[in-house]
Amino acid sequence: MSSQKGNTSRSRPQKHKNRTAFKNTLHDTSQRTKIINSIQVGDVCVRCKEIIEWKIKYKKYKPLTQPRTCVKCGSKAVKQAYHVMCSACGKQSGKCTKCCQSKTIVEAEATETQQLKLDNELKDLLKSLPERKRRTFLRYMNRKEKDQEDDDKKTASENREDLLDKLNTLKLGEGDDDFDDFLDEEEDEDSDNNQSEEES
Ligand SMILES: [Zn+2]
Ligand SMILES: [Zn+2]
Repeated sequence: MSSQKGNTSRSRPQKHKNRTAFKNTLHDTSQRTKIINSIQVGDVCVRCKEIIEWKIKYKKYKPLTQPRTCVKCGSKAVKQAYHVMCSACGKQSGKCTKCCQSKTIVEAEATETQQLKLDNELKDLLKSLPERKRRTFLRYMNRKEKDQEDDDKKTASENREDLLDKLNTLKLGEGDDDFDDFLDEEEDEDSDNNQSEEES
């Protein structure tokens, strides 16, 4: 019996066992969670990286609403939540920007896999749209890509997030009017079947 006095070793198997690993997007598909999930933790030591990633996974992560003052240079340059030193100072001193110790620093991972995941997500969402909305979106995307060439302040992943956002809006039917306006505007200037054409 499990209630045996002094017996701490369990004789029966664990009653409840999770069949699947914890997934923070199971009941929460919000854009906020998606964005937090896509955060690449870098400029910190292995342990601090694990701590922050744990917070992200279990939804304890609270993003900064405004940059925080760096403990080293004193400027409001800390953009990442839980970090206390700015990225530049971290690099300069070779210290972890969270615990400020001189340890091996982990760089933020390349966003390639993340990018790929997002692209798949875009594709799936796109597939679920009715034909007309899909074409509207593709045009929106083409235009966006053109805009982006002039504006390199926005990273590719930020741009993807933006597209995903728009796609979600389209899917939910919100902002439909905006897109109709956009569609009308576009149809005035070019014909309907130039989707693959590259204009510059
Ligand atoms: Zn600094
Ligand atoms: Zn650290």
